[in-house]
Amino acid sequence: MSYQSVNPFNGQILKTYDFHDQAKIDESLDHAEKLLKSDWSKKDLEKRLALLKKVASQLRANKEKLAQLMSTEMGKLIKQSLGEVELCANIADYYAQNAEKFLSPQKYPTEIGEAWVEHHPLGVIMAVEPWNFPFYQLMRVFAPNCAIGNPVLAKHASIVPQCAEAFEKIIHDSGAPAGVWTNLFISTDQVAEIIKDPRVQGVALTGSEGAGSSVAEQAGKYVKKSTLELGGNDVFIVLDDADLQRAIKVGCQARINNAGQVCTAAKRFILHEKIAEQFKQGMIEAFKNLKTGDPLDESTSLGPLSSASAAENLYKQVVKAVDAGATLVLGGKPIDGAGNFFEATILENIEESNPAWYEEFFGPVSQLYVAKDDDEIVKIANQSHYGLGGAIHSKDIERAKKLASRVETGMIWINSLTQTAPELPFGGVKRSGYGHELSELGFNEFVQKKLVVIPA
Ligand code: NAP
Repeated sequence: MSYQSVNPFNGQILKTYDFHDQAKIDESLDHAEKLLKSDWSKKDLEKRLALLKKVASQLRANKEKLAQLMSTEMGKLIKQSLGEVELCANIADYYAQNAEKFLSPQKYPTEIGEAWVEHHPLGVIMAVEPWNFPFYQLMRVFAPNCAIGNPVLAKHASIVPQCAEAFEKIIHDSGAPAGVWTNLFISTDQVAEIIKDPRVQGVALTGSEGAGSSVAEQAGKYVKKSTLELGGNDVFIVLDDADLQRAIKVGCQARINNAGQVCTAAKRFILHEKIAEQFKQGMIEAFKNLKTGDPLDESTSLGPLSSASAAENLYKQVVKAVDAGATLVLGGKPIDGAGNFFEATILENIEESNPAWYEEFFGPVSQLYVAKDDDEIVKIANQSHYGLGGAIHSKDIERAKKLASRVETGMIWINSLTQTAPELPFGGVKRSGYGHELSELGFNEFVQKKLVVIPA
């Protein structure tokens, strides 16, 4: 696959990029290694944090331009693109403010004597990232590793090369020395070779289960630390005592944001039988009122999918689900025209034997499940290969908290959709991956922790 920027709203090819060659990869690894051995990584915490602050201000100064690029290259609604740039700046600021505390030595009380753990850079990191949040995904890796002193080589998704280039430019223009962040237009085979390289110590991947499995296999073979942020099939649970109108509004938003292409989007709606029909009718009405159009037009509420193949694959999944017995309540197919638009879709009557039960639908497709009580809700929720995020809606917070503890997932939000913030850990369980990004937990993933002991 080549690196090609195509506007998903109209199919126009915007720019094509050649793959980087081995000479560029070698040069990037050399720069990264040199940086790791220099004062920048070993001593200059203040300079690294100043860079983060500069990157945050550069992002804010270029917000409109970057947001427009994102919306044009992968179809995100302009308001969401603007929000993403601001979130990236906030992540950079968060680590600029907190990294010194995270990196300070930690004492370990022991009868042996004096003991502490020092925090050092782990080494050069390979990052492999997806297109659905073209700047935020990169920032989740860049900000902590910049603060730690780990040089990063980054392979972005092949459909967002302009965003990859723009992100690298922001860092470069903020005064980063060579090697802090290097964008590479490379193939998956080249990624595997980089992971194997003795100069590389870790790999962070966000993407699909298949990509995660392949990268983790390579990392395991060469004993490199890895983190995997993979797909999800998140539940959106609505109990019989929920504020129903609010749950419908939030639930629809949680399914439709970014045209449904969010790892933590609400994908499986598990509805208490007493409110299931009302919820369904509310969702049908809300979905019928969505307006497709140019992502740059602020009145558009449902943008195109990121690529023509994404729309084709989603359609195949819906057809397969219906063939296996699911009922199509609404939508179900791509919308004719130049863009990669897909109808807002609702499926119900999905049995466990239906492949759809276990699959992630990466687009505006809701699955509705009905349960008679909290035990059945938990059973349906946990009958999943994934465990990324989730949401529970109820006016009885104690009941919601008990359910939250029983659902097998890395994150769960009560009376909200799943959100993200720099200070909150982000990560999943089961086939949603392992490790964290953001917060202190994410920061620690690629920190070398060294125990020093002086016996009494
Ligand atoms: P993808 O196809 O797995 O691509 C993600 C990245 O991995 C891209 O850069 C891709 O490169 C690369 N890649 C693919 N196969 C690879 C391999 N064998 N070795 C090395 N790199 C490989 O995923 P996507 O379709 O872009 O993104 C959607 C998926 O990401 C969904 O499952 C979504 O839930 C998940 N996601 C998870 C999170 C999270 O935090 N948990 C966040 C966002 C998205 P190419 O583009 O060149 O193929």
